Amino acid sequence: MTEAGRRVSTLGTLLHDTARRLADVGIDDPRLEADVLWMTALDIDRAELYARLHDAPAEAQAASAEALTARRLRREPLAYVTGTREFYGLDLTIRPGVLVPRPDTETLVDEAIAVLAHRAEPASAIADIGCGSGAIAVALAASVPRVRVHAVDRSPTAVALTRANARRHGLGARVHVHAGDLTAPLPERVDLIAANLPYVRSDELPTLEPEVSVFEPAEALDGGADGLDLVRRLLHEAPGHLNPGAAVLLELDPRQFEAAHEIAAEAMPDARARSVRDLAGRERVLVLETPA
Ligand code: GLN
Repeated sequence: MTEAGRRVSTLGTLLHDTARRLADVGIDDPRLEADVLWMTALDIDRAELYARLHDAPAEAQAASAEALTARRLRREPLAYVTGTREFYGLDLTIRPGVLVPRPDTETLVDEAIAVLAHRAEPASAIADIGCGSGAIAVALAASVPRVRVHAVDRSPTAVALTRANARRHGLGARVHVHAGDLTAPLPERVDLIAANLPYVRSDELPTLEPEVSVFEPAEALDGGADGLDLVRRLLHEAPGHLNPGAAVLLELDPRQFEAAHEIAAEAMPDARARSVRDLAGRERVLVLETPA
């Protein structure tokens, strides 16, 4: 008996196939995502994947890749399918129920680190309000030695995941995770608040891509009629939780800066306000600095 007639699919062929199916449903980077799905299914890195292009994967591995691909074809975010996303150079565990960390938010982390570096005295405590997966809290704890980080979220999934991500990076002792509403659970005054609160306008939410509008938690995205409901509340609460010379950094949509500056002028009249652009050159982070 020969192998003729039984076409054994090599990994190379299967990868090509997966990429074509992803492209067919409108996924932007189908080759890259096909690689990631197969790397996840086979539990190997990219170098190993490319070394095995001419091999035929075992049936169980092909079935596992197919299950992951099917989820992605329904437009479930890749980070939920693989259970992971890199943020600020750190691998974070991600699962449905929290927002997938975005590159835009790295601008917020960069700026928070710069603000902390320019202080006369090192900050003792800072806060991430609405911590989700813990991306901001863990990135700041990893980058700023000795600072205590208070991470707050109302969502039990977010609280559990932030704890897991802090532990995963050996930061469990310095990242204190609290369940609750905005600043209410903060146990001490802080030198900096960083927040990526929900800021999408309610009427825009259904118009976003399905990965966001169908799969990501509305409670992490929906900011009310103008998208600024939680931003407004946070800025009014913040002064009661800040040390002198503290800063508040908020991620926003580029279209919200005028309105946000007005809210800040009312809620934190003594603060100096400025905005920082993201890598695409759009206004992204509002920075409010209070007098020392
Ligand atoms: N940048 C996100 C998006 O539009 C919104 C994040 C948020 O509301 N904090 O997908």
